Amino acid sequence: MIRPKLAEFKLMFLMMAVFTTVAIGFWQAFDQPFYLINFAIIGLSISLGMGLWPLLPRDKKPWARRLSQVLVGGYLFFGLGCGLIYLSFGVIVPENMEIEGFWFMVFAGVFQAAAIHYFVAKIVGPIFFNRGWCGWACWTAAVLDLLPWKMSPGRVPGRWGHLRYLHFALALGLVASLVFIFGYTVESQHGIVIYKEAIQTDTPQYTSMFMIPEMWWFLIGNLLYFGSGIVLAVVLKDNRAFCKYVCPIVGFLKPSASVSMTRIAPKNDRCTRCTKCTVNCPMDIDVMRYVQEGKPVLSTECVLCLTCTSVCPEEVLGTKMGPSLSSSDYLRVIKPASKRSAQQAHQPDSQTAV
Ligand code: SF4
Ligand code: SF4
Ligand code: SF4
Repeated sequence: MIRPKLAEFKLMFLMMAVFTTVAIGFWQAFDQPFYLINFAIIGLSISLGMGLWPLLPRDKKPWARRLSQVLVGGYLFFGLGCGLIYLSFGVIVPENMEIEGFWFMVFAGVFQAAAIHYFVAKIVGPIFFNRGWCGWACWTAAVLDLLPWKMSPGRVPGRWGHLRYLHFALALGLVASLVFIFGYTVESQHGIVIYKEAIQTDTPQYTSMFMIPEMWWFLIGNLLYFGSGIVLAVVLKDNRAFCKYVCPIVGFLKPSASVSMTRIAPKNDRCTRCTKCTVNCPMDIDVMRYVQEGKPVLSTECVLCLTCTSVCPEEVLGTKMGPSLSSSDYLRVIKPASKRSAQQAHQPDSQTAV
């Protein structure tokens, strides 16, 4: 039977502390008990997976993370995005949780829905829990992680990762054009389906959730993400290709992750240079190089999935918490002459630019 040390639960305790603070803080600040319920659901779902992780045998640990991904991703997609959580109040109110939804809120000066989600999970949150959102909660990755190409062949050489910043700029430009040139407003997208006669609201009423514009913004955005994510995974034989080359959210995540207080780091000097941590990292981080240099994994590509900690035969790797004001990206890239055998390569090539 596995007897984990208390220290192995520190990520769970961190998430519980962060989400308890956020839940109570937003509830009190906005005087809305919904925030207490909302952040309690998210915090408990992530903490459950992080608490299960140390208890499971190595080969079963990924299921702890998948449990959190399904619970949090499912809640955010169906509960908030499709607005089904509000059925408990007799209504359906879809919210566009995609990046365009965030920019619409920002330009309208409204701190609600997607604006709060991005603020907590993707702008301020990574300072505390790194890109834990990407490893444990993202609904896009929850699906992509189920595809069969879990062991990436490595990064495509070149600066293809910069496409993510282009995508970020295009999303911002699209919303800015719609708002400032065509007069498109947040109000014109909102809608509500009411099942309780007594409810009074100024929000435009519809008879079906599929008649609400915001619902379609959310569904079409996700269709494009899932579609392109699956195509890229098939072509590049890499489940996380979408995260590496397309996802615009890194425009928020990476700057905050560069000063994150939570990192993967070596706990001892027993490293035998077996490379298992590096070749199993779904984000192609050259983990072994950090270990050899005696540094924490300072890459802003790390999604805190903990895979490297579970595959290391010498139990060298763990999580470390504390201030960190620097970042560097050591990545494993595909060797052009041996693309087909890169997955079996034992001496990874590194590049430092992303
Ligand atoms: S990079 Fe984007 S798609 Fe990938 S896990 Fe993070 S937010 Fe989700
Ligand atoms: S460095 Fe470790 S925790 Fe970070 S993404 Fe790679 S395998 Fe996951
Ligand atoms: S898996 Fe462990 S022993 Fe192997 S290279 Fe990585 S840190 Fe060293």
